[in-house]
Amino acid sequence: MAQKLLLHARVLGERAPDSGQGLANGRIQMHMEQPVNLLTFTQDELVEFFARGSEPAYRARQVFAGLHQRRLQSFAAMTDLPKALRAHLESTTKASTLSIESRYVSEDGTRRFLMKTHDDRPVETVFIPEEHRDTICFSSQSGCPLQCTFCLTAQLGLFRSLTAGEIVEQVIIALNDAYGVGMKPPRGINLVGMGAGEPFLNFDELMKALGIMADPQGLFIVPNRVTISTAGVVPRIRELAAITMRPHLAISLAAATDELRNELMPINKKWRLEELLNACKEFEQSLKPGERVTFEYVMLAGVNDSDEQARQLANLLNRHELRAKVNLIPHNPADPLPYEPSTPDQVEWFKAILESKGIHTYVRRPRGRDIYAACGQLAARRENNLLGVAVG
Ligand code: SF4
Repeated sequence: MAQKLLLHARVLGERAPDSGQGLANGRIQMHMEQPVNLLTFTQDELVEFFARGSEPAYRARQVFAGLHQRRLQSFAAMTDLPKALRAHLESTTKASTLSIESRYVSEDGTRRFLMKTHDDRPVETVFIPEEHRDTICFSSQSGCPLQCTFCLTAQLGLFRSLTAGEIVEQVIIALNDAYGVGMKPPRGINLVGMGAGEPFLNFDELMKALGIMADPQGLFIVPNRVTISTAGVVPRIRELAAITMRPHLAISLAAATDELRNELMPINKKWRLEELLNACKEFEQSLKPGERVTFEYVMLAGVNDSDEQARQLANLLNRHELRAKVNLIPHNPADPLPYEPSTPDQVEWFKAILESKGIHTYVRRPRGRDIYAACGQLAARRENNLLGVAVG
């Protein structure tokens, strides 16, 4: 078994994000020197993987449950497996590839995990405790290639896209830290793909990760509990519309005119507002009655928060006849970004204008600002002078 399993791990390799190919249609030669990360496999792929090593399907299912349902991060802890198999898996494959570099705890209870991939790339994940349901915000890429000027992550640039296994493991680490290894979340969990990176530039791995996490024999976090935010990768919005079991969608807008959006979110030069909102309209047609397309609007003092800009935003959404919901996000200041948050009064006024024009509007309360965990603040900050507590 040892030889066979190792051989297969090397042949299969980990799937290259954005390669456009999957396990099903090719034997990807990626990370050849790396033992395969079993978190990257769906349950069926794991069964196939074990079958090639002449191990029965029930063993694969035991390992899948060990990794995802019991959230064990080593094979040594899977004491229901024969000792020889555990040793084998330990030496030829991986149950975990992320390591926690530091963990910061905010005064509001938010936790930010700064982790490293096997090839030393930063990954950040945020756990946000809430009254009724806790939320985990995961990253889809290490860094980000988009250049939104209000976001600190943009300053990192892109290191690389994360694999499905690396996306899933962020959630496992945050859950284990919050509740204990394998313990059930007392209030249920929401996931948001709003950490570092543009999720739709890593679409295939993202969707695979969501599929793995939805498995009832695993984490069992269904897509309905997940929201993915995009800066506006139009073809992927259309693609998502065609998927039945899919996460909720949020679009980061930041401006209601092309002129300003080109400046704040350069992706707008590729997919202009008109094209973006047309795609949103198409997406809306795939929603259930009562569901709305969500737009995120970061509020930057003196830049995009005037009364006139509120009217422009309402008119833009109404002109496209969208059943829209707008989340206003007061900017989270982060040196060296040249912006300040809108005042609470201006945020309220902006909200009132949108509502007067029939737009459902909410104000997002900032969480974890003191530890660089809030929206737009993820930039692998590791200073010791953060207000929150650094552990690890
Ligand atoms: S806001 Fe999102 S898409 Fe834009 S640079 Fe930041 S992480 Fe990337």
